[in-house]
Amino acid sequence: MTTAAAALQPIFIGGTWRLGRGAPVPSVNPVDGSVNATFAGADANDVGEAVERGRTAMADSVWRHMLPHERARILRRIGDGLAAETESLALLQLRDNGKPLYETRGLVISASNTFHFFAAALETLESEVTPARGAFLTMTTYQPLGVVGAITPWNSPIASEAQKVAPALAAGCAVVLKPSELTPLLALELGRIAQAAGLPDGLLSVVPGTGSVAGAALVAHPDVRKISFTGGTETGRAIARVAADKLMPVTLELGGKSPTIVFADADPELAINGVLFGIFSSQGQSCIAGSRLFVERSIYPAFVEQLVARTKQLQVGDPLDPRTHLGPLISEPQRAKVESYVELARSEGGRVLCGGRRPAGEAFARGTFYEPTIIDGLSNRSRVCQEEIFGPVLAVMPFESEADVIEQANDTVYGLACGIWTGDYKRAWRVGTAIAAGTLWINTYKQFSISTPFAGVKASGLGVEKGRTGIRSYQQEQSVYWGLDERPNPWANVP
Ligand code: NDP
Repeated sequence: MTTAAAALQPIFIGGTWRLGRGAPVPSVNPVDGSVNATFAGADANDVGEAVERGRTAMADSVWRHMLPHERARILRRIGDGLAAETESLALLQLRDNGKPLYETRGLVISASNTFHFFAAALETLESEVTPARGAFLTMTTYQPLGVVGAITPWNSPIASEAQKVAPALAAGCAVVLKPSELTPLLALELGRIAQAAGLPDGLLSVVPGTGSVAGAALVAHPDVRKISFTGGTETGRAIARVAADKLMPVTLELGGKSPTIVFADADPELAINGVLFGIFSSQGQSCIAGSRLFVERSIYPAFVEQLVARTKQLQVGDPLDPRTHLGPLISEPQRAKVESYVELARSEGGRVLCGGRRPAGEAFARGTFYEPTIIDGLSNRSRVCQEEIFGPVLAVMPFESEADVIEQANDTVYGLACGIWTGDYKRAWRVGTAIAAGTLWINTYKQFSISTPFAGVKASGLGVEKGRTGIRSYQQEQSVYWGLDERPNPWANVP
């Protein structure tokens, strides 16, 4: 792949593959720093052209008059196309962002399932006839919003892109997709597969480029009717400000600092495995990572000892090796950020119980690897427990009572997810429903189903993705009154 990096690769604008006019966008393999490919990224003009091509495609009578089951057929073909190439796409993504193969394979399968799910939803969602209060028939129908922008981060490519593109196309919209500049490969592959599946030109454009140029141009474009964004909270706020001026709806899936709570009556094996997966899979680079662990005081020493012992057994290494649990972090700046938080933890009085360093050895010399790290001795008010690190760092803290843990778990600006491990289902309900989190996992963690809505509360987001009605967030309601009165309206009669 290194040789391919020399020539600039095209991007996908309005059904055409051509070089963008913006800054080059390299895809770098975090295992060894080699360049997979370099794309000629999009500038604001390219984004404008993609939006214009989307508008034209939506106005085209073929798309406008395509019946739902026919549109669903195209979505299914995209899902089939993704499934048919699962292995090669998974390998490509592994080189793009360093996740172990079992994870990248899972993301491709998830993306394929997402297209199949929204194809089924599109065929079965109904408009409504509403109760009339006069001599008319009233109904609510749903119209596509228009051209929408989808902006995605680097941590779960293809799955997060499918989560936006599939419902938006199902809704009848055209989509301009701006993936993270760090991970352009899979988004462009999605463009290729959608084109091969027969999606009419212009309905999907993929415009890798920098956030400050391509992303900002997409958000500000007057003909873009909605932005669906996944990424950091500060970027989300900046997008929301522009959207407020345009009076444009947004869906914002943002950051997190999710609590995991282990009660003394939890099954220890289940809880330890769940905690490890919840924080260290994806190298901790996950919005829903369970990065704050609260353990009931009576089992705290034994549980933490076990947890540390098990963490030391996790394999850091080549994402192609099936024994690997953690691959490299996405980039050098991301690793530097993680390291600075571990240093901060030390200065805040934290004790590093394991990890807290780069793994040693030749195999790790050129990659951005970092050991899974557990820290205790911090207060929940410390910066390390309040700010999103987005890396393999777990802070563990004891708690005294239900009331204590509810207060600490909620003491964060975020509200994305929460995990509870207990043998008492009534307590799980009591505590879980008292915690402000968009997703609650009880005796499990980081499991997902496309049919279940996903949302964050507080600084973790605005709006909902996934679920059957996910399509509706790309549509607007239109109320229709059919007059049934045989008599003219008497208002204009002369007395
Ligand atoms: P960023 O917010 O930095 O970037 C996300 C996307 O926004 C990228 O495509 C980026 O472009 C783009 N962008 C940056 N600035 C602008 C702008 N001014 N206008 C428009 N677009 C812009 O997040 P990261 O990529 O670093 O991803 C990590 C974050 O994502 C974490 O906070 C994580 O919690 C969150 N996340 C949330 C999820 C959720 O569902 N709640 C799921 C996954 C991640 P570019 O990168 O090319 O500069």
